[in-house]
Amino acid sequence: MMRPQSAEEILRTIVVSIDGPAGSGKTTTAREVAKVLGLLHVDTGAMYRAVTWKVLDEGVDPEDEAGVTSIAAHINLDFPDGEEGKKHVVADGTDVTDAIRTLDVTKNVSVVSSYAGVRQAMVGLQRRVSEPGGVVLEGRDIGSVVLPSAHVKVYLDASCDERAERRRKELSAKGVEKEVDEIREDIERRDHFDSTREHSPLKIPVGAHVVDTTSLTVEEQVDKVVGIARSTAKELFSRVAKPGQRAELTKKAFHYEFIRRFALMATKVLFGLRIRKKDTTPYVENFIYASNHRSNADPSVIAGTVTREMAFVAKRMLFKIPFFGALIRSLNAFPTRRDIFDRGAMEHSLSELRNGRSLLIFPEGHRVSGKELGSGKPGIGYLALNSGVAVVPVFIEGSGNLKKALLRRPRITVIHGRPIRLADPSKIDPTSENCREFTNMVMCAIGALREEHQHGR
Ligand code: C5P
Repeated sequence: MMRPQSAEEILRTIVVSIDGPAGSGKTTTAREVAKVLGLLHVDTGAMYRAVTWKVLDEGVDPEDEAGVTSIAAHINLDFPDGEEGKKHVVADGTDVTDAIRTLDVTKNVSVVSSYAGVRQAMVGLQRRVSEPGGVVLEGRDIGSVVLPSAHVKVYLDASCDERAERRRKELSAKGVEKEVDEIREDIERRDHFDSTREHSPLKIPVGAHVVDTTSLTVEEQVDKVVGIARSTAKELFSRVAKPGQRAELTKKAFHYEFIRRFALMATKVLFGLRIRKKDTTPYVENFIYASNHRSNADPSVIAGTVTREMAFVAKRMLFKIPFFGALIRSLNAFPTRRDIFDRGAMEHSLSELRNGRSLLIFPEGHRVSGKELGSGKPGIGYLALNSGVAVVPVFIEGSGNLKKALLRRPRITVIHGRPIRLADPSKIDPTSENCREFTNMVMCAIGALREEHQHGR
């Protein structure tokens, strides 16, 4: 078990996401914040720009989705440090640091980055570089799609006039004189395109810190974000169990623990269960565990991997089975209806969470086989936003066909992701829109675990 010794230690492996529209000051802020805190800075806009540069350089039409996607899937990107401490961008061996900032690239980057295949390739890359932690990623969809479990989520904003004026000065410093009106039009066009596109549109991630930079200097906005990162690290450290302290808030019932251990051992022996946990810090708190759903065996398999005592939501018909119904009831299962938004089950879940108990929930609502995940039902968002309890995304594989799992083809694997926390739960309105957005975030996090697993990382 990894027990950090100080808030500074947490800060060294922290993951910060900075999202916002064009010209909101993301790149400058992210670069400076990374410098102050000693973290790696990743400019994801530069990745989409590098793909766009390559598309234009190869003479591919930016409207040709298949051609553009193929370039994104094969491009080799590198970000070496330049002499002045500035990050360079190298695409397939060519230094394109300056070339990706030309107006031609800027004009075409929105359409290039709107293709699902391009996003898939770049998001995979972005998640890989963030895996060890200690990073500041900036972009449009980082807190919501790329890194839903980022410890610190910031959304930078500024008025359109202010953003246009900043870009004008930036260009002017490079010797390019442009009318502010023309720049504003370009920014408005990109804002509109980026926030209305189908895949990963620009939006404020639920629970992010919104910083309006319109009347802030660069130093002030850097200070603000550094301050948020430091106080988050402190807050996280205050939750870490002291030596000898238990992480669970509730006391485990003897028969629950006995059955849990038995289930764990049985799944290991019979199905070669493999468990991976991304964050083993012993936080003194309860969690909502949100998993994809493959088989009726999932609750017992997953419960085996979770040391906290959990409550479970289960189909009503299971409670009618003699003996079994009574058994699962004694293991904190309670019935839910799946055809409607079951308010009674939601209230029961909330009261369990408020009493400090953890909860296992399957956001897809039913079993989903095959390679793709189903879509998430907003109940998970409702529970998280109303209780303020953090969500641990869980990915399970191999339980869908137990006969094959016996032969280890494939064996059962359970992966726990990093908890998704809300910056200040009491300030978030649990509107149906927010519940839906948060649910999407959880599904993205489960999807990221799945992809990582499928690529053998
Ligand atoms: O931040 P920057 O202006 O360099 O980004 C260029 C473009 O790349 C944006 O207008 C947007 O279309 C796209 N982008 C994106 N997702 C990101 C970062 C940038 O779609 N995470």
